[in-house]
Amino acid sequence: MSLAFESVDLPAGAHALRDRVRAFLRAQREASAYEPRCSGWTVFDRTFTRACGEAGLIGLTWPARWGGQERSTLERYVVVEELLAAGAPVGGHWIADRQSGPQILRHGSATLQAEVLPGIVRGEITFAIGMSEPDSGSDLASVRSRGERVDGGWRLDGRKVWTTGGHLADYMIGLFRTEPADPQRRHAGLTQFAVDLRSAGVTRRPIRNLCGRDDFSEITFDEVFVPDSHVIGQVGDGWRLVTGELAFERSGPERFLSVFPLLVALLRAGPRDDTPTARIELGRAVAHLAALRRMALSVAATLDAGGDPATEAALLKDLGNALEREIPERLRALRLAEPGSPQAAAYRAMLDDTVADATSYTLRGGTPEVLRGMIARGLGLR
Ligand SMILES: Cc1cc2nc3c(=O)[nH]c(=O)nc-3n(C[C@H](O)[C@H](O)[C@H](O)COP(=O)(O)OP(=O)(O)OC[C@H]3O[C@@H](n4cnc5c(N)ncnc54)[C@H](O)[C@@H]3O)c2cc1C
Repeated sequence: MSLAFESVDLPAGAHALRDRVRAFLRAQREASAYEPRCSGWTVFDRTFTRACGEAGLIGLTWPARWGGQERSTLERYVVVEELLAAGAPVGGHWIADRQSGPQILRHGSATLQAEVLPGIVRGEITFAIGMSEPDSGSDLASVRSRGERVDGGWRLDGRKVWTTGGHLADYMIGLFRTEPADPQRRHAGLTQFAVDLRSAGVTRRPIRNLCGRDDFSEITFDEVFVPDSHVIGQVGDGWRLVTGELAFERSGPERFLSVFPLLVALLRAGPRDDTPTARIELGRAVAHLAALRRMALSVAATLDAGGDPATEAALLKDLGNALEREIPERLRALRLAEPGSPQAAAYRAMLDDTVADATSYTLRGGTPEVLRGMIARGLGLR
C-alpha cells in the first residue's frame, strides 16, 4: 500500500551507449534528416525509423534471435531519453518498441513473433494501439468492436478511434469483444489480436488535430479476417493483457520529456536575463524534470526486475503530464534578448505549436481523473 521509488544507478554500459546515440543524432541532424520537435515520439517518419533500426536503437532488450541485444531496461531508458530530448521523429517505431513488441514477446505465438519482431528491430514494421472507440475511452471495458470465430481464425467488425499513427502503421494490437457483454463480469470476454492493417476490410481515415496535423485516425473493421496465430495470449484474457500493456505505455520518460526540446530552443534563442523570471522558470522546470527522471528510472528498474509498478507509473504519468502542460504556458510570459533572431523565430514557432499540442498530453494514455483513481486504488484508498 505504499509507493516504491528506489534510487537507481545507471549500469556501466549506459554511458557509452548514450555517447553512441548522441553521435547518431548529431550525424542525422548534420544530414538534415529532421528538425527537432516537441513530442517527437508521435511524429511518424519511416526513413528515420529505419535509420534507428540500422543504428541498433530498436528492440534493445529483446532476445538476440529476434535481432535484439539483450540489454537491460535501464540501458534502453538511456536511448529513449536521448531520442526524446533531441526532439527526434521516432513515432514510427515508438509503439512497437515500447509496448507491442514486448507484448508479442511475452504473449504472442511463435508464428507471429517470427512475422513481426525482426522487422520491428530493423525499423521496417510499425504498430498502432487499438484500444479506444467512440464512447469507450476511459471506460475501456465497454469496447464494442467484436471478434467472431470462423474457420482458421476470427472475423473482426467494429471501429477504433484516436489511433495514433493508425493510418500509417502496418499492424495494430486491438482489443475486441469475443463474448457477449455481461454487466456482472465487465472485464470478461475480451481478446487482443494483432491485426495487419493492410488486410481487406480495414478502412483508415486520418483525423486532423488542433495543430492541423493528421497524427491520429479512425479505423473501421468490416469482416476482417485474422488467423488464430494472431491472437495475443488466450482468448478471453484480453483485459489482463491490455492492463499489463498499459504499465509499459505509461511509465516512460515520454510522459515528461515531450516539451524538453522547447527548453533547449529557448536557451538557444536567449531569454532576457535582466529580470530573474527566466532563471526562476528554467530552474523550476529543470528541478521538476530531474525529480521525475529519478522516478522514471526507478520504474524502469522495477520493470527490469519483473515487478509491477502500475501505481508508480500512473503517478509518474500524471505528474509528468501536468508539468508538460504547464511548461509552455509559463514560458509564454518570458521575453527574448534578441526577438528578431532566427533562433527566436524558431523558438516562437515551436512554442505556438506546443501550446496547442499540449492540450492533448493529459488525454493520451489515460486522463488525470482515471490515473488518480488508479493511484488511490493502488494505495488502498478506494
Ligand atoms: C493525442 C491523442 C492520442 C491518442 N492515441 C491513442 C491511441 O493510439 N490508441 C488508443 O486506443 N487511444 C488513443 N487515444 C485516446 C485516449 O486514450 C482517450 O482519449 C482517453 O482514454 C480518454 O477517453 P475519451 O476520449 O473517450 O474521454 P472520456 O473517457 O469520455 O472522458 C471524458 C472526461 O471524463 C472524465 N472521466 C471519464 N471517466 C471518469 C471516471 N470514472 N471518473 C472521473 N472522471 C472520468 C475523463 O477524465 C475526461 O475528463 C489518444 C488520445 C489523444 C488525445
